[in-house]
Amino acid sequence: MGKASLLQSWQVLQRWVLPLRCLLCGASGAGGVDLCADCAAELPRNRSCCARCALPLAVPAALCGECQRRLPPWDAAWAPFRYGWPLDRLESRYKFNADLAAGRVLSMLWQREPCPIRLPQLLLSVPLHHSRLRRRGYNQALELARPLARAAGVPLRHDALLRRRSTAAQTELDALARRRNVHGAFAVREGVALPAHVAILDDVMTTGATLAECARVLRRAGVQRVDVWALARAPSPRG
Ligand SMILES: [Zn+2]
Ligand SMILES: [Zn+2]
Repeated sequence: MGKASLLQSWQVLQRWVLPLRCLLCGASGAGGVDLCADCAAELPRNRSCCARCALPLAVPAALCGECQRRLPPWDAAWAPFRYGWPLDRLESRYKFNADLAAGRVLSMLWQREPCPIRLPQLLLSVPLHHSRLRRRGYNQALELARPLARAAGVPLRHDALLRRRSTAAQTELDALARRRNVHGAFAVREGVALPAHVAILDDVMTTGATLAECARVLRRAGVQRVDVWALARAPSPRG
């Protein structure tokens, strides 16, 4: 066996023994995830953002213009990434193509981010209506929330918030239509005792309409402090 073919066999064997592989470009995975170092370095971090709604800001400021005009119904937002290349590719594969390997990568990335200093007493995931859950087979927010809650040591409930009616997908709607679309869509399950400080988790936060509606429902149920957690924040302004 020549040197080249020996090397080839070794590479084949190595891939088999260490099957980490970048889901985006096919190169070897690094850091214990199916993502190479180069693609991981391209993940858009949400370092400069509004303290209240995590909206990405080009110029550092305490609050974005929207929050200066009208504060959102939650207390603080945590979104460690921006929704952009290449995270958007992984997210759409996870959410719309049932690519659970992409979901695992996203979940690992999130767990590695430093948690907010004031942790909530309870984490809730944004519920899917049962008709959509049946079609998709999993709640993409809940599957990200499970390992994150374990890593942060915060209890998680997926059944405390109910989706009372099926809503149109928010993707195609503008900010005002998004607010109307989710108005009255959520309720706290009867008999559920909620602590004073709760965080509600979604995979991606776009205008924040869904999380805002959940926050209002939780406040009406007596929760004193509501935080919102999302893996990534879209750079569009909140409507
Ligand atoms: Zn890569
Ligand atoms: Zn803001």
